[in-house]
Amino acid sequence: MTPRLLLVLPCYNEEAILHLTDTRLNAFYDTLIRENRISRESRICYVNDGSRDATWEIIEALAATNPRVLGVKLSRNFGHQNALLAGLFEYKGLFDCYISIDADLQDDLNAIIPMIEKYNEGASIVYGVRDDRSTDTFFKKFTAETFYKLMRWLKVPVVFNHADFRLIDNRVLTELENYREVNMFIRGIIPTIGLKNDKVYYKRLEREAGETKYPLGKMLTFAWNGITSFSIMPMRFVLWFGAFSFLLSGGMAVYVLYTKFVGVTTAGWASTLLMIAFFNGSNMLAIGLIGEYMGKIYEEVKARPRYIVEKSSPVRD
Ligand code: UDP
Ligand code: MG
Repeated sequence: MTPRLLLVLPCYNEEAILHLTDTRLNAFYDTLIRENRISRESRICYVNDGSRDATWEIIEALAATNPRVLGVKLSRNFGHQNALLAGLFEYKGLFDCYISIDADLQDDLNAIIPMIEKYNEGASIVYGVRDDRSTDTFFKKFTAETFYKLMRWLKVPVVFNHADFRLIDNRVLTELENYREVNMFIRGIIPTIGLKNDKVYYKRLEREAGETKYPLGKMLTFAWNGITSFSIMPMRFVLWFGAFSFLLSGGMAVYVLYTKFVGVTTAGWASTLLMIAFFNGSNMLAIGLIGEYMGKIYEEVKARPRYIVEKSSPVRD
């Protein structure tokens, strides 16, 4: 009953840490196999997400010397989420369970042991949840936790402090393939699949080499993408705001007519200017927001492939 495990690691410019990661993973796999937790046929898959450094050369060399290592090369950079999907779908059905984890091993490997236990107990999805962020910088902790709070407030179905460290089984992978959206925000999609799920808590560690591939700009884009993929709340705010200003302008009309007929007609250019500026501003904001969602629809309608695999290693014995 030992499951065949596939570990999927998206890698973007990770030459500084890949050797260290691979050494650790292999030692960890040896232990798991010795303890009879996973099958000997388990594999480790590195997905090169169009790196501009030697990441792919390293992956190729690792795969050539170690049959446990599988490499997938994307034709260019498609982003973390798509790289992850590429690795999962490339080997769909060939393993019993799949765990996605970042290449920098900031997510504690030891959490994999309880994940597999929960899988053996029947869970189809096991979320890795960070309950200790003491090694994160204040900025990272603050932005990340604000992000999860905002997401919940906007009714996006995310698991608090869960990123992309999770176990899924074949059943989930099959269902995931039916989600055809181009802009896939995986951590929002998985909870909508349902099925039996569980959580494993762990401490987030420090990145030991290389730099974060998520600078502020990319982080914000990612957050915005998550929100607009799952929530129409921002558009609803605009609607509420529109209703409010409509009522306000009704009140204004009463006031204007009243002053006109009572005869106190001073040239109120200041108030006029203020109103024009205010309503122009809010109109632009509303149009911009609608544009955001329209843009999203435009991308989805085109239905371009999420990623293109240039080459990948076969699973050998
Ligand atoms: N990553 C990727 N493509 C990208 C950006 C990042 O595959 O365009 C990978 C990266 O190599 C790492 C993971 O996504 O394995 C998470 O990135 P990182 O550790 O830099 O993010 P952080 O932990 O700082 O949020
Ligand atoms: Mg990281």
